[in-house]
Amino acid sequence: MSSQDKQAVQQAIHVVGGGLAGSEAAWQIASAGVPVVLHEMRPVRSTDAHKTDGLAELVCSNSLRSDDSEQNAVGLLHAEMRRLNSLVMRAADGNQVPAGGALAVDRDGFSAAITQALAAHPLIEIVREEIVLPPEEWDSVIVATGPLTSSALAAEVGKLTGEDQLAFFDAIAPIVHRDSINMDVAWFQSRYDKAGPGGSGADYINCPMDRAQYEAFVAALLAGDKTNFQEWEKSTPYFDGCLPIEVMAERGAETLRHGPMKPFGLTNPHDPQTKAYAIVQLRQDNKLGTLYNMVGFQTKLKHGEQTRVFRTIPGLERAEFARLGGLHRNTFLNSPKLLDGTLRLQAMPRLRFAGQITGCEGYVESAAIGLLAGRFAAAERRGETPSLPPRTSAHGALLAYITGDHIGSIDAGPRSYQPMNVNFGLFTPLAQMPSKKPDGTRLRGTEKTIAKRRAICARALADLDQWIGGTRIAAE
Ligand SMILES: Cc1cc2nc3c(=O)[nH]c(=O)nc-3n(C[C@H](O)[C@H](O)[C@H](O)COP(=O)(O)OP(=O)(O)OC[C@H]3O[C@@H](n4cnc5c(N)ncnc54)[C@H](O)[C@@H]3O)c2cc1C
Repeated sequence: MSSQDKQAVQQAIHVVGGGLAGSEAAWQIASAGVPVVLHEMRPVRSTDAHKTDGLAELVCSNSLRSDDSEQNAVGLLHAEMRRLNSLVMRAADGNQVPAGGALAVDRDGFSAAITQALAAHPLIEIVREEIVLPPEEWDSVIVATGPLTSSALAAEVGKLTGEDQLAFFDAIAPIVHRDSINMDVAWFQSRYDKAGPGGSGADYINCPMDRAQYEAFVAALLAGDKTNFQEWEKSTPYFDGCLPIEVMAERGAETLRHGPMKPFGLTNPHDPQTKAYAIVQLRQDNKLGTLYNMVGFQTKLKHGEQTRVFRTIPGLERAEFARLGGLHRNTFLNSPKLLDGTLRLQAMPRLRFAGQITGCEGYVESAAIGLLAGRFAAAERRGETPSLPPRTSAHGALLAYITGDHIGSIDAGPRSYQPMNVNFGLFTPLAQMPSKKPDGTRLRGTEKTIAKRRAICARALADLDQWIGGTRIAAE
């Protein structure tokens, strides 16, 4: 490395926000030998959910969810992060409390371990201040300010991205794994067979209901347990394009069948003579075609209720949900449109985004995206081309969803890109599905699902190991 290059590496990268993503990003940058300044606004200014001034504070549950890296997508993400020298995982493992198969932590010990490790690192400076607009002389910045980004910074980001590209609350409709939909009952068709831009005329999956089924469904929505807004979330606006379905149902028994469940322009090929009374439509959500979202079904029903009530929809009796619905305060970008493959804002590449503000959901996912953003920024600073994680890994699958795999909707209503947990629907399907056990007998029922998950996890870890070992996948 020339002395000029060495000098360039000495220039700090700035990370804004010391939550799950920002803390992990700062650690990865410093671990790559590059100085970093971490700007955290607490305790100078707090958010509605944080209670301490510790870095990486867990604002709600103390669980990082399943730690099973053989059959669970978030457990796989844990395993990958451990292999990538994650500080968040090291602090979690060091502060674990008993929780069965889940990785739960002592939240104070977890946050203290991360705060201490970052404060003790010679290449990391921690500054307690709110950043409103990163100054121009900061040539490499990671914005990791989370779902409760301060309003002054959010306003500046909104100006850069266009206000309609930055959301302040989510309106999440459930997403279903395509292979769990019963196509003996459901069928592919677009309303009035309209192809639209980029469509085929048969882009939606339709689930028909007769009158009795519809009325029972509306009654179940009205009776179902709903989650309450937190006190500070009560001002979260409902606007007509994204009313929760249960709120629509409260407006009258017929409202849904004149809204998202309207049956017009669709003919059931399984029973062409019978007109459906109402129809639930699902639209492709990712380029792989493995996930379908329930159109207009944003909801505040409790998760258990959603699974129970939505499985009464004909064709969805055995639906497996990759994501359940919700409505929260949440600041997040329309990332697939705004960010490049290494999470840089296309309109201002010196700014990179990480964590929940990119549209991933959850502590672990946010930390994982922080990990990648930190590695990308450090590689750039060292004069290298950032290398993308394999598409088959959990990191690669999540990154691909954020930076381009999601298929945008052209329909009116809430923006179709909504927060997402890591799940198996985001992974490239296996070239060959496992069909036999080691003893040569055929796999049946849930054995097949388990074998498929195991194969995806094994493939992910093998490919990740190769990547860590030096196989480079150049960023676009
Ligand atoms: C009420 C609530 C409950 C949740 N419950 C769960 C749960 O149980 N499980 C789960 O997995 N996920 C949960 N989440 C989601 C979880 O918060 C995120 O997944 C995770 O914390 C996001 O990590 P992050 O680093 O992107 O943001 P955060 O962890 O929120 O970190 C962002 C940091 O940026 C700081 N900051 C904000 N603006 C500025 C600024 N302008 N300048 C400097 N610093 C700034 C904040 O103080 C904060 O420390 C919850 C979220 C909320 C809001």
